[in-house]
Amino acid sequence: MDLQELVDAVCADVGGHLGRGRVADYIPALARVDPRHFGLAIASVDGQHAAGGDADMPFSIQSISKVFALTLALDRIGDPLWQRVGREPSGSPFNSIVQLEREQGIPRNPLINAGALVVTDCLLAGGTPDAAIADILAFMRARAHDAAVCVDAEVAASEAETGFRNASLANFIRAFGNIAHPVADVLATYFSQCALSMDCRQLAQAALYLANDGIDPRDGEIVIDAEGARRINAIMMTCGHYDASGDFAFRVGLPGKSGVGGGILAIAPGKAAIAAWAPGLNDQGNSLVGALALERLSRRTGWSVF
Ligand code: GLU
Repeated sequence: MDLQELVDAVCADVGGHLGRGRVADYIPALARVDPRHFGLAIASVDGQHAAGGDADMPFSIQSISKVFALTLALDRIGDPLWQRVGREPSGSPFNSIVQLEREQGIPRNPLINAGALVVTDCLLAGGTPDAAIADILAFMRARAHDAAVCVDAEVAASEAETGFRNASLANFIRAFGNIAHPVADVLATYFSQCALSMDCRQLAQAALYLANDGIDPRDGEIVIDAEGARRINAIMMTCGHYDASGDFAFRVGLPGKSGVGGGILAIAPGKAAIAAWAPGLNDQGNSLVGALALERLSRRTGWSVF
C-alpha cells in the first residue's frame, strides 16, 4: 500500500468537514487555535512515512502524553504500578472525581486525569518537577528522533492557573495515600507533560514502538518489553477516549488516545503509528474530524484489529 496515497485519500475524505467541533476554550492558548486545521501522519514499522495537511504544525498534545508517561512508569516500576491504578474503562469524563471516593483513591485507569496524576507521581521518584519534566522531554525527543519537541511554557502556566479540578483530584488521591509527593510537584509535572508541543509527524514517529512490540524500529531500542507494549495498547483501546472509548473502538477499531488539543494517536499493531490532529472537539472532548479521519483510514486499510 502506498502510504502517501492513503494519507492524501483520507485528507480528501474529511475535506468537507474541516472546522467542525468546538475548540477547547478553558485556556487562551488552546482557544485561539483555528478549528479548520487538519493534519495526518503515518509512520510504518518498515520505515515508511507519509504526511498531509498541517502535519508539520505543532499542537498541544495534552492527554496523549499520558501514553508516554505510562510507558516510562511501567518500564521503571513494572507490575507494582497496578496496585495504584486500575485498568478498567471509567465510563466517566476525563476529569471526573466521583469514582475515586467509592474506589478508595485508586483511579480506574492511567489514561483519565486521576490515573495520570498517579503515574506522574511515580515519575517524580523522589526528585524535583524540573528533573521529571526533563526526563519526559528527553524521552519524547529521543522517541520522535527530533530535538525540536518542547514544552509550551504558556500552556503549562495557564493549565496551572485554571487547574482547580486537577488540584482537587490530586489532593483527594493524596488523602487516600496514593500520591507520595507534594501535590504541587505532581501538578507542576503533569501540567508540563500535557503542554508538550508536537506535530503529527513527530507524534507518529514517537509512538512507533507501540506498533512494534515495544522496539523502536528506527534505532532498534527496546523502549518497553513486548508485554508492556501489548498492555498499553489494550488500555488505549479500552480507555483512550474517556467515556467515548467504546465508540472509538466501534468506529475505528484501533488502540487510540485523544487529547483536548485535538490530537489523536492511533496504533495499528505490527503495522504503523498514526497521528491525526483537528482542534474541534465533540461533546466528550475528543477530536471530531480526527476521529472521522481515523475511521476512514481504518476502513480504507482494513487495519482494525477486529
Ligand atoms: N490538560 C488537560 C487536563 O488535564 C488534559 C485533558 C485532555 O487532554 O483530555 O485537564
